[in-house]
Amino acid sequence: MECIFCRIISGEIQSDILYQDEQVVAFRDIDPKAPVHLLVVPRKHIESVAELTEDDAPIAGHLVSVANRLAREAGISEKGYRLVVNCGPDGGQLVPHLHLHLLGGRQMGKLG
Ligand code: AMP
Repeated sequence: MECIFCRIISGEIQSDILYQDEQVVAFRDIDPKAPVHLLVVPRKHIESVAELTEDDAPIAGHLVSVANRLAREAGISEKGYRLVVNCGPDGGQLVPHLHLHLLGGRQMGKLG
């Protein structure tokens, strides 16, 4: 198994897991870009958001729902936060396993 996030999900690689259920796992980003920087990933290996089909709508919704819940638990819901999905080389995706970045705890800059 080469995918680093699959190895985190299986427990082969240690990470700071904050939430998990049958469909998703959430853990702290190893190189945080904000005071709160979590990754929410599906257990199923989906390469990128571009691979999602209509059948994956429930998992896509669940990823967002878990991110929102983690934002509330981290105390950043009221001031706001950013959810980011990088896709492919131009999108800045480094790990080819779909993941949602939850970033917060500071003022985010403008996009671009
Ligand atoms: P992306 O550029 O959207 O593919 O983001 C990949 C993210 O995964 C980066 O923010 C990395 O810091 C993070 N990352 C890579 N390896 C690990 C790891 N072993 N544990 C936690 N986060 C990681």
